[in-house]
Amino acid sequence: MKIIDAHTHFFPNSQMLPTPQEWAKKHGESHWIMLCADRPDGKRTLQGFPSVEKFISDMDAAGVEMAIIQGWYWQNSESCKEYNRLLRMAVRGFEGRLKICASIQPADVSSALEIIRSARDDGFCGIGELHDGVQHFNYSSEDFSKIALEAAKEELPICLHITGNNERNYPGKIPTANHAALSAARSCPNTKFIFAHWGGEIFFDGNEKLLDFGGNIYFDSAATPLLYPKNPEIWSKAAKIDMGCSLAVYGSDYPIRLYPKKGSVEEMINIVADAKDNFGKSTATSFFYGNAKKLFL
Ligand SMILES: [Zn+2]
Repeated sequence: MKIIDAHTHFFPNSQMLPTPQEWAKKHGESHWIMLCADRPDGKRTLQGFPSVEKFISDMDAAGVEMAIIQGWYWQNSESCKEYNRLLRMAVRGFEGRLKICASIQPADVSSALEIIRSARDDGFCGIGELHDGVQHFNYSSEDFSKIALEAAKEELPICLHITGNNERNYPGKIPTANHAALSAARSCPNTKFIFAHWGGEIFFDGNEKLLDFGGNIYFDSAATPLLYPKNPEIWSKAAKIDMGCSLAVYGSDYPIRLYPKKGSVEEMINIVADAKDNFGKSTATSFFYGNAKKLFL
């Protein structure tokens, strides 16, 4: 079965100079430092920093044909521009396997629009990942609709980080305005949105009628093993909910170490195996491949 991983990240650490940590400090990216740099309590970050070659060999080992590299929710638009440039350079020569999404800071609307307008020409296939809690923008604002409309014009899907409204805590957990995000997506039916991490619990909680989403809202499975560690049945539950709706998109959140107890290095094999073993056969093709192809290719 063909697999597209629609939610990965990549930090070109040899280009984020002098070190990724210093690069982020220089750019005022306190949230990224807290999440991705080594932690003050001495514990290692869950974030891996593979080279492009390691990234590709992890894809090969897991049978992943293509990976979509999401951008990051940088707090400053200058970081977005600089990181977009570094990402384009990093995947040069690997365009058949690695597709990239452009980072924007929606709170700086003119800069965000400028990035969206040239994104296609610059080699990007989507926008995001965005995080309103970290980037301090408002889904209900006119500025955000301008961004969504521009993305629709350029046929670029937008990936949103959605935090679950549950008591589960982890370092760097920052709430997102999930219902405002849903309303924004509903009022821009021509823009395609991916609600990451199963949209918090939106996908599972049954309060929203999934079929009412109008065909422009998708949900990805990024970080499932970390978010539902004691609940491997979550995959079959998702498959049951998605039956016929084709809203679910496979994503891992690689190179986060999704099974920290199983190993100290990032890998893709375990999540692919879990998802394959448990996601229903009848919806598997659209989940692992078809929906991502529709969105990004
Ligand atoms: Zn992500």
